[in-house]
Amino acid sequence: MVREIMRDTAFLSLRAEPATSADLPVADDLLETLEAHKDGCVGMAANMIGVKIRIIAFLGGGEYMVMFNPEIIKKSGPYEAEEGCLSLDGIRKTKRWKSVKVRYHNRNFQIRLKTFTGFTAQIIQHEIDHCDGIII
Ligand SMILES: [Zn+2]
Repeated sequence: MVREIMRDTAFLSLRAEPATSADLPVADDLLETLEAHKDGCVGMAANMIGVKIRIIAFLGGGEYMVMFNPEIIKKSGPYEAEEGCLSLDGIRKTKRWKSVKVRYHNRNFQIRLKTFTGFTAQIIQHEIDHCDGIII
């Protein structure tokens, strides 16, 4: 189900809770909502659809991907980026890392480790920040 985009910065500033397999329907709604906004949006965290749970969805290498409980465990190559967010107005400056290693659960709640670089890494960092209540 496509959900409404949360724009309340007080809500978006709250840390999200760990996801469990009971939250799989939230991931489906997140993907559907992301696809509905594909013209201007390449990633979304569950709190952007009003659910305070650690799930992110994003477009990486032409494919949609979902991560449960994503965590950056290694990062390198800091740089200054400019980003927009569907929940906020305008473009803002923020610090990002060129390469990030992420630990997350897949849909079967198996632990996965993967390194991402470039734009995909940037999207993931933005969405994991959302899970921690950090907005650009
Ligand atoms: Zn955002």
